[in-house]
This record gives sequence, C-alpha cells and structure tokens, in this order.
Amino acid sequence: LTQLFRPLDMLGMVYRTIRQGLIDMAAMFKLMDEPQEVADAPGAPALVVRRPAVTFDNVVFGYEPDRTILHGLSLEIPAGSKVAIVGPSGAGKSTIARLLFRFYDPQAGRILIDGQDILGVTQISLRKALGIVPQDSVLFNDTIGYNIAYGRDGAGLAEIEAAARGAALGPLIERLPQGFETEVGERGLKLSGGEKQRVAIARTLVKNPPILLLDEATSALDTRTEQDILATLNAVSQDRTTISIAHRLSTIADADAIFVLDQGRLAESGTHAALLRRDGVYAEMWARQAAEKDELGVAAE
Ligand code: ATP
Repeated sequence: LTQLFRPLDMLGMVYRTIRQGLIDMAAMFKLMDEPQEVADAPGAPALVVRRPAVTFDNVVFGYEPDRTILHGLSLEIPAGSKVAIVGPSGAGKSTIARLLFRFYDPQAGRILIDGQDILGVTQISLRKALGIVPQDSVLFNDTIGYNIAYGRDGAGLAEIEAAARGAALGPLIERLPQGFETEVGERGLKLSGGEKQRVAIARTLVKNPPILLLDEATSALDTRTEQDILATLNAVSQDRTTISIAHRLSTIADADAIFVLDQGRLAESGTHAALLRRDGVYAEMWARQAAEKDELGVAAE
C-alpha cells in the first residue's frame, strides 16, 4: 500500500482526496488486490450536490465479462433518507458501494447523484461527496489529532475538537495527558476496536460529506459499545443521505427503506414493518436471525 501511495504523495495536496478515498475503500473492501482504472471524462465538471439523492438506474455490472453480478439493478434513495442494503453473502451489497465510488464502471445503466451521472463528473468531486465509516478503520502511526484531521486538508483544531465530540471521543481524549497530540497506532497508544471506530467517525465528521456509507461496523464490539456506536452513528447521519450495508437486521430496523438484494437483483424493498408483512425473503432472514439470537442466548446461560 505504501509503495502505491508514495508517488501520489509527491504529486501534492490535490491528490489527497483520491488517496484518502483509496485508503478508505481499501480498508472497507480490501480492494487493493486489483484496483481498476477509471478515468475522468475529458473536461468533466465537478459534481455539485445540493440534494444528495442517489439513483441506480438499471445498472448491469460484472467484474468479469462472463459473470454478471448486478442484473439491471434500480434503487431510488431520496436525499436525506436513511436506507439499508441487506441480503445474503455475495448478493452484491459491497459491489453497489464500489460502483458508487467509481472503483468500477457499470456495463449498462446509470448511477446518478443529485441527477448527475457519476461517469461524467471528476472523481475528486465524487469522492468528496461520499464518506465511509468502514468495518476496519486504518489508523496512521501519528497523533490522534492527525488521524481525525485526515478527513480533510486544512482542518483546524476547533474542527477536530468538534468532530471528536460528535464521535463521543471526548472522554478518551480528556484522559490522555497529551490529548490530541497523543501518538496512536503500532508505535503509540493502542486503541480498542470501538475507539478506532470513533476515530473513523470523527474523520468523517471533519470531511462532512453529504452522503454517508456505513459498512456494518460492529461485529467485533461488545453489545454495550455497539449500542453506543450506533447511537453516535445515528447522530452523525442527521442531515445526510445514509446508506448502510448491513448484515445484522436488528441494527437497521428503523431505516426509511430497506433494499433486499438477492443474487444481484432487488428482491424486495420497503420499511421493516412492510417487509415483515410481506412475509418474503426479508421476513425469513429476520426470523432466522431472531432464532440464532435465541440459540446464542440459551447457549450463554
Ligand atoms: P458479503 O455480505 O459477503 O460481504 P456482498 O453482498 O457484499 O457479500 P459482493 O462483495 O458485492 O457481495 O460480491 C458479489 C459477487 O461478486 C460475489 O459473487 C463475489 O464473489 C463477486 N466479486 C466480488 N469482488 C470481486 C472481484 N474483485 N472480482 C471478481 N468477482 C468479485
């Protein structure tokens, strides 16, 4: 990874946004094995986001020519809404996020943000509009302040402090004699999974993107921490369009809409209550997860 990014460092600040996008994505999707080249269209304008609606319009996509993963997928995500994408492993949930970031381009169909086809805008402007709170956050061997400020070039201390508060990192930072100057990472203070997650949330708050992607982030955390983090994420999602990629349904039951993906097709969509009434794929997933929870509960006693 370092090898790949060193030349970009030399090219200066303008590339930081791209680089950050790559690091976020690498963390989330472990994509670095085979990053694909997508190029800006000549003379492409910047994406201008006034109302951060996201539309997938009949998107067809496969990583390889002979294996289609998304079969004409259409999703309508209104500006400011909180939606979740669920479905079995391999259904294509992460692929949707990769396409949104333009790590790949669809073979057919369009992806629009606020009415603008993402193929036609600069990648820098696209990635500025998108924030990610990944599953495994990457921390740099630097200060906690640097790690938070990494969300945006030129972030000042006041912004960093506000972001730390927003991510509920205040109590941790107060405990540290050197505060934001505390070194973290391999050579410094080791942060817990939940604390790392909060640094990622703070980073996102500094970046302040209109569209937020949440990779279900809580698998390695205990229940109490998980609940705390979910509450923080809910607060951070205010006034943004939020797309959660979820494995556990209990965390997304209050979403404005849930899209249920099955083998690259939209099987169902609706609110939690509507999907339960429908008694289809989602209801079955819900019942299965409830049963698993019961079993775990019994096993724990
Ligand atoms: P999970 O819940 O397990 O994370 P998912 O719904 O996010 O799964 P995707 O990661 O989007 O699923 O993958 C959808 C399909 O695309 C899978 O069959 C997967 O094997 C395939 N796939 C993913 N990445 C690549 C890749 N880089 N090259 C080829 N095929 C890929």
